[in-house]
Amino acid sequence: MTTLDDLPLRDNLRGQVPYGAPQLNVPVALNVNENTHRIPEAVAHDIVARIAETVIGLNRYPDREFSGLRERLARYLGHGLTAENLWAANGSNEVLQHVLSAFAGPGRTLLGFAPTYSMYSLLAAGGDTTWIPGLRDDEYELSAETAVAQVREHQPNVVFLCSPNNPTGTPINLETIAAIYDATDGVVVVDEAYAEFAPDGTESALSLLPGRPRLLISRTMSKAFAFAGARVGYLAADPAAIDALRLVRLPYHLSALTQAAAEAALDHTDEMLAMVDDIRGQRDRIVARLSELGYTPHRTHSNFVLFGGVEDPQALFTALLERGILIRDVGIPGHLRVSAGTESETTAFLEALSALSSKA
Ligand SMILES: *Cc1c(COP(=O)(O)O)cnc(C)c1O
Repeated sequence: MTTLDDLPLRDNLRGQVPYGAPQLNVPVALNVNENTHRIPEAVAHDIVARIAETVIGLNRYPDREFSGLRERLARYLGHGLTAENLWAANGSNEVLQHVLSAFAGPGRTLLGFAPTYSMYSLLAAGGDTTWIPGLRDDEYELSAETAVAQVREHQPNVVFLCSPNNPTGTPINLETIAAIYDATDGVVVVDEAYAEFAPDGTESALSLLPGRPRLLISRTMSKAFAFAGARVGYLAADPAAIDALRLVRLPYHLSALTQAAAEAALDHTDEMLAMVDDIRGQRDRIVARLSELGYTPHRTHSNFVLFGGVEDPQALFTALLERGILIRDVGIPGHLRVSAGTESETTAFLEALSALSSKA
C-alpha cells in the first residue's frame, strides 16, 4: 500500500498530521466551540430566498470584491470602519492563510503564544513558514513584558494573538497588544473569533486600528453568529493591508452562494446573535459547577471552558463519550475543554460529569 512516505512530499510536511477534531454523531457535541443553537426559522427562510435568487445567475463568476458583504461586515463592526477596511474568506482559517501567504512564507517566521489555536502551526507548515511557539505567564495570561521580550528576541515577521485564546479562554488586554505592535516591524494579527462572548464593556482590538497599518483583526461568523457550516471569516485592517491580501487570494474565492447567505444573515444580526447571552450564562454555569466538583476552570471570555484537576483526561473523555457527550482533549496534561451548549446540553454534560466525579 502506498503511504505518504512514498510520495515526493515537501520536507516540512513530513510527519505532520492534518487538523482532526473528531466529527462523531453524538447527542451532545460540545467539542469544537460551535454555537449549538440552530439558526432561527425566519432568518433561515430569508437566507434560502437570497440563495434562490442567486442560483439563476451562477453561470457568471461572483463579485470578486464581495462588496455587499464587506459593507455589511463594516456596519456590523462599527468603529468607523468602511468596506475598504474589510476582507473575508471561507472561514477565518482561510483569512489567516491569506495573511501568511502575503506576509510570511519560506525563510519567515510566525510567533504565537502556546498553548493556542492548533491551526496556527498547521497554517505555518502549509506555507513553509517557521512556527515559533512563545511562552505565556502563569494561568495562561500574557503580560506586555512577557510578550515584548519574546517579540524582541525572535523578531518574527508575523505575530498571531488569539484573544480570547483558544483553548484556554484567556483574553489579552489592549495595552499588551499595543506594546507588541510597538515592539515589532512585522504584522500583528489579533484573532477575535470569540469576541462576542466577552463580558459587556470589553473593548475589542478594533479600537486600536487607527494609526496602526500593520495591525489586523480577524473575526468569524462561525461561533457567536451560528454560521460555522457556511464558512465565513473576515478581517478588519488598514486598506493597504487589505490590498496585500488581494495579491494572494484565488480569484472569486467567495462563491456567490456564500456571499448571498452571509449577506442575508448579516441583515438579521440581532436575531443571529440572540443566543449569545444565553450561551454566556451556560458558560458561567459550567465554571461554577466545575469548581463545586473540585476541578479548576480557567478564566474565560469565550463560549468554552478549559478546566484542570482532571486525573485522567482520556478516561474522563471516554466515559463522557460513552454517555453521548463529546468534549475535547486539547493535549494539556490534566485538562479538558468543553463548549457551552444549549441549557439542556449543558445540563446533560454537568450531570454526567457529576456522576463520574468522585470528588463531588
Ligand atoms: C474556531 C476558531 C476560528 C474560526 O475558524 P473558521 O475558519 O472561521 O471557522 C478561528 N480562530 C480560532 C482561535 C478559533 O477557535
